[in-house]
Amino acid sequence: MGLIVQKFGGTSVADSEKIKNVAKAVIKEKLNGNKIVAVVSAMGHTTDNLIKLSKEITHRPQDREMDMLMSTGEIVSMSLLAMAINELGFKAISLTGQQAGIRTENSHLKARILNIDPKRIKKHLNDDYIVIVAGFQGYCDDNEITTLGRGGSDTTAVALAGALKADRCDIYSDVEGVYTTDPRIVKTAQKLEVISYEEMLELARVGANVLHPRSVETAKLYQIPMRVRSSFKLEDLGTLIIGVEEMEFSRPVTGLASDSSQLRIVICDVKDRPGNAGKIFDILANKNISVDMIIQSYARNQKNTNDIAFTISTEDFSKFEEIKEELINAISASDIFIDEDIVKVSIVGAGMIDRPGIAAKMFNILAQKEINIKMISTSEIKISCLIEKKHAQTAVNALAEAFELDGSTIADVKGDLPSL
Ligand code: ADP
Ligand code: ASP
Ligand code: MG
Repeated sequence: MGLIVQKFGGTSVADSEKIKNVAKAVIKEKLNGNKIVAVVSAMGHTTDNLIKLSKEITHRPQDREMDMLMSTGEIVSMSLLAMAINELGFKAISLTGQQAGIRTENSHLKARILNIDPKRIKKHLNDDYIVIVAGFQGYCDDNEITTLGRGGSDTTAVALAGALKADRCDIYSDVEGVYTTDPRIVKTAQKLEVISYEEMLELARVGANVLHPRSVETAKLYQIPMRVRSSFKLEDLGTLIIGVEEMEFSRPVTGLASDSSQLRIVICDVKDRPGNAGKIFDILANKNISVDMIIQSYARNQKNTNDIAFTISTEDFSKFEEIKEELINAISASDIFIDEDIVKVSIVGAGMIDRPGIAAKMFNILAQKEINIKMISTSEIKISCLIEKKHAQTAVNALAEAFELDGSTIADVKGDLPSL
């Protein structure tokens, strides 16, 4: 008998009929002789609607109250799913993040899971219950409710799989697996049979929102076999995520993603002396604002100053406005320029290691389409370019074609696929 953690996203539990379907998917695995923990997201667009509602009240809600508000979405779906399973004659019980023992750091909106005490879940599993857990939430000191960041139910599921030493973690969504790029943007995107944790992590970080980046980080850390599959096509095994060492790369690039949820901030005329960059990023860190790309211009003007540019998430913009003056004063900058017209386009592939010329090829493809690059950042297996929003679709299509991401299977596994 195995233990399987399943996770059902918002579209999979969008209405009562879909919740009844999910109940059947859960029972199917139970009848295969497994113990089941099912993690659920909020129904459909519930979280977006809750955020919209808060904005009708205030544009500066307290982080704590936002967590109280947003955590309600998953509580609705978990109880409805438990009822649907009970209705079909199987024992099910729903638990909030706190009841499931999910402890997080003391921070709201994007809290990290610190540890999980799975005692209560194990007890219910031993009593032959199917355990339904609310995704995206946990608790910290003083029993305060926290949330894990948008899309965080994936991380709840993988972290539970780690804590329970589950045999696998299946993420059910509205797509049939992980594709070379978002199948809603590039219709000819190809489903990947398998992808490495490393590549999936980079893809998730650069905007492939099919998985929450921290869920992939956790799966990699605990080596949890993970599948992304469709809740509407249960017979399809979807995409398997495994260690890079088990893979063989036939092409340099495995996937492509775009992210239009960032802003570029340029701090103008920062004196070229030690300590200024530290001051800027300390102020941002103290406000809990994460920074993605950073670029510093080369000081060659008479004032001996640089411009420092970086990107932040649009979600953090109102927090940024609160510290804008503090930033200017701390480093005596002349101005701060905010550029909202950006989209980040990235290519990812472990196959680009030891294959020179991939960056040049990406830049040339963009140049051929007369697309100007505003910023570039790279890692060992990723190249990102910031471009104007109006070019996003053209860039994605051109790069998908050039790197053969709309062709046949991209990455091959060494030997046979592990059976799960
Ligand atoms: P869920 O509600 O199930 O968590 P999400 O909306 O968070 O679903 O994630 C699924 C969506 O991710 C898909 O509908 C798809 O548009 C998008 N997506 C982006 N990049 C990819 C990709 N490379 N492969 C598959 N889906 C992707
Ligand atoms: N409901 C949350 C969101 O919409 C968490 C999740 O779905 O994973 O972001
Ligand atoms: Mg999601």
